[in-house]
Amino acid sequence: MTEHLLKILIVGDGNVGKSSFVNRYVSGQFNRTYKMTVGVDFAVKLLNWSDEEKVRLQLWDIAGQERFISMTRIYYKGAVGCIVMFDISSSSSFLSCRLWKQDLDHKAMLPNGDPIPCILVANKCDLAERAVSADTIDRFSRDNGFFTWMEASVKENKNIGEAMRRLVQEIFSV
Ligand code: GDP
Repeated sequence: MTEHLLKILIVGDGNVGKSSFVNRYVSGQFNRTYKMTVGVDFAVKLLNWSDEEKVRLQLWDIAGQERFISMTRIYYKGAVGCIVMFDISSSSSFLSCRLWKQDLDHKAMLPNGDPIPCILVANKCDLAERAVSADTIDRFSRDNGFFTWMEASVKENKNIGEAMRRLVQEIFSV
């Protein structure tokens, strides 16, 4: 049995649902109070990837950022994949994704110098009020070097495990 340790970042503006996402993914719950401290704490999830392989995911959430803020390299160090998240009802959180991605491309590199694989996640798709269309997200995702994007709802438990699996798959394929 081989165990892979993968450091995964979850970035995006405040209030888009990052902590809820991690909490839901790790413990299967929604709405429990849960915040982590940058550089000190991260959540862990063990995945049975195949008969011979286990994956230990370290999920690093940037707690307490309401707006885009350039992160220190220490935070990005050793990361092999990233979820960039926005709230589909908030166009400002969508616009910030470009800045988050640029920051990642400058600071979060694989050992060979390539940018780490990033998936764009449009959270809160349970909400009727949408500020960004699927076409716009699709174009943005391609133009900014995301390998794919997905809608999700932490509230309705939609596409949480799927988004993580898709990211891990991409990490193993690069
Ligand atoms: P963070 O600041 O990005 O970590 O966001 P939080 O996880 O603290 O979530 C911000 C707010 O959005 C909380 O009130 C959550 O309950 C709510 N929230 C998170 N995910 C969803 C979702 O999928 N749908 C809806 N409607 N609300 C959500």
